[in-house]
Amino acid sequence: MTITSVKISEFGGPDVMQLVNQPSPMPQTGEVRVKLTAIGVNLIDTYHRTGLYPLPLPSGLGCEGAGVIDAIGDGVDNLTIGERVGFCMAMGAYSEAIILPHTSLVKLPDNVSDAQAAAVLLKGMTVDYLFHETFALTGGETVLFHAAAGGVGLLACQWAKHLDVALIGTASTEAKCEMARAHGAAHCFILDEAALAGGLRDSFNQLTDGKGFPVVYDSVGKSTYQMSLQALAPLGTFVSFGNASGPIEAVSPAALAAAGSVYFTRPTLATHMARPGWMQKSANRLFDLMARKIINVDINQTYRLADVAQAHRDLEARITTGCSIILP
Ligand code: NDP
Repeated sequence: MTITSVKISEFGGPDVMQLVNQPSPMPQTGEVRVKLTAIGVNLIDTYHRTGLYPLPLPSGLGCEGAGVIDAIGDGVDNLTIGERVGFCMAMGAYSEAIILPHTSLVKLPDNVSDAQAAAVLLKGMTVDYLFHETFALTGGETVLFHAAAGGVGLLACQWAKHLDVALIGTASTEAKCEMARAHGAAHCFILDEAALAGGLRDSFNQLTDGKGFPVVYDSVGKSTYQMSLQALAPLGTFVSFGNASGPIEAVSPAALAAAGSVYFTRPTLATHMARPGWMQKSANRLFDLMARKIINVDINQTYRLADVAQAHRDLEARITTGCSIILP
């Protein structure tokens, strides 16, 4: 039996992703094979493709998906053939099948479809740790969250509303802002050159009674760094969790002092997933919010595996909203 997968043998633009056919791999001890029915598309996949986050080459690509277990190696007694599972932060998900350690899988409940799991696991667990651990929201806060209409963003809008947190979003167009507000953002501002140059300062002051935000969740990086820093309250927390516009070049202790003794952190989902038992607990929290219809997963773009380059072009061109998936 052969399967089709996406491989890269060099870093670069979307066209470095090539479809290859290869024999379906067999699981070894402690591993299972998952026949993929849905694959998540994340901005981090573009960082891997360009080499911003370097991978050993040649490499598969894609780190999130869902499907059915169709082969099991020795020493796995907690999973059975035919079981529905999801995963994230595992390389090689742009494929018809993937081999994974059995410990990296999340069992999917009946109320979560394969497509939803592939769309939401990585992004949803990210919001879970951002809101409950990196800066633990208790309700009543007013926070700034960039890229509020993206995959992580629309989940964050809904989650914040549920926590009684006023999420002030930014996005590149009014249509995206409308979407963020419809998902629970208290306000959303267009992130244009004027905004980046400080044009939202008065609005932010009004919304925070002149205090500034206790926390800014910034996944845009290079272009928003200065405005985010200036928007913080004294002793506020700068959560830098992505590089959509490029990595922040340098963080100076003097700038953190001048901004009001603020804290700067650069968290990753991988760190949280490495904590024993955390992944299944986080997934369960997410699935529970989905079951209660507090979080809806917006799958707004769907592609075939052969169209993976288009999926990356759309994400990098900022024309997507919510989540994107690939159906192999
Ligand atoms: P999104 O669907 O949010 O897409 C990225 C968005 O970033 C775009 O839609 C765009 O929104 C905004 N953006 C701003 N500037 C640029 C730019 N120059 N180029 C491209 N996009 C830009 O992606 P994801 O939901 O997959 O991820 C959101 C962010 O969260 C990413 O930065 C990702 O790396 C980060 N992330 C971090 C994790 C972690 O643990 N640290 C885990 C998961 C995601 P707009 O047009 O509205 O500005």
